Amino acid sequence: MIAFFPELYEDELAYSWFSRYYTKSGYLSLRYALDDLYVKRYVNPDTEFVNELRPEVKELVIKHCGMEKLILGHTMFSSYGRFLPDAKKQEAYRALLDMNGNFNNLLAIPKNRRGTGRTLRYCPLCVKEDRKAYGETYWHRIHQIQGMQICGRHGCYLAESDVSMERKAAPGLWNAESVIPEELEVRMCEEEKEAALAGYVCRIFEGRMPFKSRVSVAEFLKYRLKRPYGSASGVSLCLERLYQDYREFYGNKNVMTETKMQKVLLGKRWNFYDICQLSMFAGIPVEELAAIPDSIADAIKEPVFMQVSEELGLDYELVRSVGEAVLRRYEARERVQRRKRTFAWEKMDEELLPKVRETIALLQGDGVTRPQRVTVSAVTKKMHLPDKRFEKLRRCREEIKEHTEPQKEYWAREAVWAYRKLVREGRPVNWTQIRRLTNMKNVDFQGCKPYLRKHAGEDADRLENLL
Ligand SMILES: [Zn+2]
Repeated sequence: MIAFFPELYEDELAYSWFSRYYTKSGYLSLRYALDDLYVKRYVNPDTEFVNELRPEVKELVIKHCGMEKLILGHTMFSSYGRFLPDAKKQEAYRALLDMNGNFNNLLAIPKNRRGTGRTLRYCPLCVKEDRKAYGETYWHRIHQIQGMQICGRHGCYLAESDVSMERKAAPGLWNAESVIPEELEVRMCEEEKEAALAGYVCRIFEGRMPFKSRVSVAEFLKYRLKRPYGSASGVSLCLERLYQDYREFYGNKNVMTETKMQKVLLGKRWNFYDICQLSMFAGIPVEELAAIPDSIADAIKEPVFMQVSEELGLDYELVRSVGEAVLRRYEARERVQRRKRTFAWEKMDEELLPKVRETIALLQGDGVTRPQRVTVSAVTKKMHLPDKRFEKLRRCREEIKEHTEPQKEYWAREAVWAYRKLVREGRPVNWTQIRRLTNMKNVDFQGCKPYLRKHAGEDADRLENLL
């Protein structure tokens, strides 16, 4: 039962708030706190967003600050969601308010890659200030923006804590105050441009989030970059020259690849840090990127397309899309051809994905059928595909890898299946019977014990004591 929540600090991650609650409530174990807070058992608290909360906890949050404020002011939605196209952004926001897990699919970065190799970071000077003002420090959002290495407020380098942001790390609610050391070393960033960029990124992040805009970020960036980098026809940008100058501008430090820049400009990539970086290079003021002025929508209109649209009485956007498509075709004939060749694999990757998911579920079993271990070769075989087919299909391969358990965990799944089969069929439940069903060796069974709890739930204790 949750009786109280501590005060929520400015720019504090919701994760940080819950971990301070956990520390202050004197729980005997983390498990109890997680059970009290979250709907799903065996949840791994998300450091950047909010896992589904129990209804009574949600009530408390609503009383405390409201769900809107929690999502907008205390999660990383402000970076991952900010530059998404309007419809996608609104959908992601609604999913976050409903604490519906599918927000992950809508954000600019897939959930399994969000935390890869990252740990929670802090600024030594912010920590010092917090401790002075509140007697404790907390995890700030602005220090967790992907790509940022400097505190946007103090201009010093951020430090890495030991708290992993990986989704597969052991679950935890790590309170910043108990993790961050007392004595801290401060290293100021001497490079002017790097520090300026950190300030720029930080101010965009803290700006109010618009949910409707007449102009997309890609269109706005292209409009601003058109004068110096426009092609002869004026429809596309001279990417090569633009990319070279951009790299030089940042001294080749932490820059995106040319392909990524191209995707940003085509409106197919919405990475927060990269867009801020390109925008500062383009000389766009913070206020304009944070809320793209509606007046730009008219300025962007091309006189030729305007004329055609008026003469034929057709919608301007329609004329523009057709006109630009034709011009682009002429300008980048080669690129179009190159793309065609890779297209077949991408299409197959997409088409096979649902079938791959089904096959994974089939292999895992429904509790009644005997499970099989999920591996790339098992899925290949079951789907009657040629060997090594998945080497070409990135998304399918990742999906399989994500479901591939360590051998020991797989043994646990098998042991639980056998145990439940015996119980269901009213047969004697003992080690000999389980061994007969699974062909497991004693040593395998001992090895799988750490995973039993995850798969056996309440049956774990009885199962563990069988041998
Ligand atoms: Zn700071």
